[in-house]
Formats: sequence, structure tokens, C-alpha cells
Amino acid sequence: MTSVTRRLPILFALAAGLAVVCSLAWTFAWNKGIDTLRHDAAARGDRTTATLKSTLDRYESLPYIVGEHPLVRNVLADPRPDWIAQVNRYLEDVNRHAHATATYIIDSNGHCIAASNWRDADSFVGAQFRFRPYFMDAIKGEVGRFFGIGTISHEPGYFLSQPVLVGGRIIGVAVVKLDIEWFLGADAAEPLLVTDNHGVIFLSSVPAWKYHTMRTLSKGVVASIEETRQYARWALSPLPVHVERRLKDGVQIVRIGEGIVAPSYLETRRALGVPNWHIVTMSPLGPVIGSVRSATIMAGFGYGLLCLLVFYWRQRRARLNEMIRSREMLQEAYAMLNQRVAERTADLSQANENLRREVHERARAEAELRAAQDELIQASKLVALGQMAAGITHELNQPLAALRSFSDNTRVFLDRGQYAAANENLETIGALTERMGKIVNQLKLFVARPRPCGLRAPVASALRNALSLLDKRLACASVTVTIADRARDAAAAATALNSHDDYPDFLVQCDDLRLEQVLINLIGNALDAAAGASAPRIEIDIAAQSETLAIGVRDNGPGIPDEVIPRIFEPFFTTKEMGQGLGLGLAISSSIARDCGGSLTVQNASGGGARFVLTLPRAQAAPCGAPVAHP
Ligand code: ADP
Repeated sequence: MTSVTRRLPILFALAAGLAVVCSLAWTFAWNKGIDTLRHDAAARGDRTTATLKSTLDRYESLPYIVGEHPLVRNVLADPRPDWIAQVNRYLEDVNRHAHATATYIIDSNGHCIAASNWRDADSFVGAQFRFRPYFMDAIKGEVGRFFGIGTISHEPGYFLSQPVLVGGRIIGVAVVKLDIEWFLGADAAEPLLVTDNHGVIFLSSVPAWKYHTMRTLSKGVVASIEETRQYARWALSPLPVHVERRLKDGVQIVRIGEGIVAPSYLETRRALGVPNWHIVTMSPLGPVIGSVRSATIMAGFGYGLLCLLVFYWRQRRARLNEMIRSREMLQEAYAMLNQRVAERTADLSQANENLRREVHERARAEAELRAAQDELIQASKLVALGQMAAGITHELNQPLAALRSFSDNTRVFLDRGQYAAANENLETIGALTERMGKIVNQLKLFVARPRPCGLRAPVASALRNALSLLDKRLACASVTVTIADRARDAAAAATALNSHDDYPDFLVQCDDLRLEQVLINLIGNALDAAAGASAPRIEIDIAAQSETLAIGVRDNGPGIPDEVIPRIFEPFFTTKEMGQGLGLGLAISSSIARDCGGSLTVQNASGGGARFVLTLPRAQAAPCGAPVAHP
């Protein structure tokens, strides 16, 4: 269903509503307009009727008064010329004072014997009025009232007549003619007519309607009018009046004229009584129709405006509802978003909490590990110390035995007085004690805690001390130790290292004892690995860069299996038998290298065996503390 088809019933309903509103407005305005018009016309009719009636009544008795005058009676009884002249003047005087058109006396034969207009050329004097109804009425003893066009003056007028009685006999008729043409001129804003008893319009504010009839006259009536010459030679044709609607109280809506453009009037009618005339008001309906049309148009516009307002209100309400719905949806979305954010925040908070817990756990584990590591370092040191103790015991036993032997010999030489030999022995004893002191010093160094300020270690000294500590084992295993590309045995290497001429004493940023510990570990492991070789060999090389120093320790042992390499720096990883190793050496060494800002790496050498490289940052000067410890 298209939107046009859907809206068709609404459009029909609106159109029907418009028709109803317009028709109601039209009816209401029409009734109101007609009522007002009726009211105004009634007032006007009453006013006009009263005015006309009072005017006519004022003159009603004038003919009687005239007829009662002795001169008039006399002249009617005996129309002598001098009396006629007197009566003429009298009538002239009366007529002037009464503001009548003409006042005249007619004898019983219908001849006018005296008139107020006796001086005028068209004087009534001598005229015959026998045929005039006002004469006929008066001669019969009645009051004659008649409107007609003068037969002599040809001027219309209202004729009032009274019989002149003398001794109960009618001897003549006194007549007063009044001009009432002025009458309608005063209130001629709207058509106003006066019709006679036959419906002939003899007074009209619309000149064209005058001497027409409101209805078609019968032939008899026409003949009687012609006989009395009431309206002279006027044809008295009927006015084209078409009754359109009859309302109550004799009021009707008429159209006067032919065709649809003929104007319509509201016709009201008032009977004057005596004479038998009618005052007819014709109120034009044009203004009423105009105002009805305006009211209908206004109502139509008002209805349209109302429809537009309703439409606007509905649209506005729909938009408002839409807005409210949108806002609700927005609020829902916002609430959902908030909920999601809250959930997400809760998740994140939870994750954060978990992370914090994990970090805490890790920190704790790390601390524990560190503690364990420290303990293990200590333990490792103790193991090394045990091994060293065994070595030192072994080392010290020999000089001690020698010392005992030399001191015994010296005592013998002194008893014999061989002082030179005794002195030589004493020198040997001194050398032996010095050597023992050195051995003990090594032990002291190893177990000592790192000095906080020892961050500059001379590499050569550390290497020398390490080799010196491992001297016995190296010798036992007949391992050849080469430093750089020079092949030396351990003793020679140590001797070479003692000479600063061969090796510049590089400084690295590390505690000297820790460096020694690392080197002892690397060389010790190399020694263990190479021990099974036919010609065991250990190669030590030192490569100095501008910022770092790399110490390589290579052996010609079996090398390290590929699957072992990733785990070799793990604590407690060892391939050695129980009691031979704890698997801590490399872990501790790697940790020391890291602590010093360096690294410890391993790879299998191309010619066989393993090669460890200790890289440490170089130190430029050694102002703080002694580079090595001395006994
Ligand atoms: P430990 O010597 O007490 O076993 P380390 O941490 O020093 O502990 O060494 C771990 C393991 O690494 C050794 O058990 C050994 O199997 C291997 N390893 C170390 N150095 C070498 C080397 N030069 N050649 C072959 N294997 C080595």
C-alpha cells in the first residue's frame, strides 16, 4: 500500500470535515445575517410606517375644517364670483399654512369651483373630478383617501377629501392634495416601496420600480384604475419579482430582475391600515452574502489552520516521542556501555590484581631464588672451599714436611757450626712459608664477601690468581694452557701473566674476587672436559674492544651436546657424577657476568671442544681499592 493510498481516507475525512465546517459556517452566518437584516428592516419598516401614518393623520381633518368654513359653504350653495374669489384666497392661505400641494372645493357635480392654485395656469378651478375615487367616496359621505397622478398637474399626490354638509345634505367636497414624494427621500439607503391595495408601487426609492406592480393585476382592476385615471397612462407592468424563499411572518427572499446576476433582497411588509397601503422594505442581500462568504472562507481557513496545527502538533509529538525514544536508547546504550566498562574495568582490575599478585609471587620467588642462589653460592663456595681445602691441605702438607725437614737439618747444621748451610736452609724455610702464606691467602680471598667498591678488576691478576689456584689440578691432568696464541704450561702462563710487559693489565668493571671465581669456574670446567683428551689443552684469549673485554676459554674436550646447550646455565644442571659437581658454577658465573653488565655465552668450537666467552665492560681507571688482594 503506497503512502498516497494510505492517506487517501484521511484526505477524504479532511475534505468532508472542511465541507461540514464550511456549510455550518455558511448556515450560521446566513441565519445571523438574515436575522440582523430582518431586525433592521423591521425597525425601518416600523419607523417609516409610523412617520407616514402620522403625516397622513395630521392632514386627515384638514378637508373637514375647510368644508366647515362659512365662505366655503356659501360658495358651494351659491357660487358667486366674488365669493369664489374670496374662497380661492382663503384656500390659498390655508394651503400655504398647511404646506399642502393643493386645497380645493368640488361641488356636488364634480366641478372644482375654487382652488388654492386659482392663480396658476394649470389651476384646478373648473376641472371635473367626478370620476376620481376621492370625490366619489366623499360625495357618499365618507372620507376619501386616494393616491393618484393629478389629471391636470400630472403630479402624483395623496388626496384627502371630506363631504361638505349643510343641514345633513352634502353640497360639495373639500379636498386637500399632499405631496408625499419627499417621504421616501429621507430614508432611501435601501429600497423602500409603498404599494396600494392592488399592489401598485406608487412610491419607491428606486425610481425604475415606480408604477410597477408587485403582482400581476386582473383585468377588472386594470380597468378600474384606468377609469379613475389613478396612475395616468402608466402601463403598470409587474416588477420581475421571483420569490426564492419564504420565511416566517411574511418575510421572504426575492430576486428582482432577470438572470442570475439579478440582486436578491429580503422583503418585509407592513400594512398601513388606513389607507390600505403597504410599506415594503427591500434589504439587499449582497452584504449578507458577502459576509456569509467571508465567514465561510474564514471558517475554511480556520479549519485548514486547525488541521495544520493538529498536523504540526502530531508531527511535533512524533518527533518528541522519537527524541524520547532516542534518548532512552542512548541512555540504554550508555548504561550498557557503563556496564561493559564496569565489567571490563572489573576484568582489568581482576587481571591487574592477578598481575600484581603474580608480580608479588614472582618477586617473592625471585627473592627466595636470590636467597637460595646466595645460599647456593655460599654452598658452592663451601664445596669449592672443600675442594680447595683438600688441595691446600695437600699443598701445605708438602711445604710443612719440607719445613720440618729443613728445620731439623738447620738445627743439625747449627749444632755442627755449619752456619752457611743453616742460613741457606733458613732462606728456603722463609720461601716455603711465603708460599704457604700465598696458598692461605687464596683461601681467604675465595671465601671473602665481595667488596662493595671493587668494581674495577685487573684481568691479568684475576687470571693469574685463578690459574695459580688451579695450578695443582692442571699439573696433575697434564693440561697445556695457552694464553692468546702462545702455548704455555700452567706455570709458564702464570709467570707470563705476572709480567706486565706481555699483557697490558686491562681493567674490567667487576669485583676482582668474583672475576676470579668466574675464571676458576670456566677453567675448572675446561680442565674437567679436557682431562679425558689424549693431549689436554686449554686456550685462553683476551680480546679488548673500546668498551668491552672478551675472555675466551676453550678446551679440546668432547664439547657440549646441542640439547644441553640451552640448559647449561640453569642452576643445578650438571652432567657430572654425584659429589663431583653441583651444577651451580655456570649459573653463578652467568649471574655475576650479568650483574656486572656483561654476559657469558657458550658454543662448540669448530675444531672440537667447548668455548666459553666472558664479556665484561671495560673500566678506564682503577682509583678505588686495590685491584687484587695480597696476603
Ligand atoms: P658442575 O661443574 O658442578 O657440574 P657447572 O655449572 O660448572 O656445574 O657446569 C654445568 C655442566 O656444564 C657440567 O656438568 C658439564 O656437563 C657442562 N660443562 C661445563 N663446562 C664444560 C666444558 N668446558 N665442556 C663440556 N661440558 C661442560
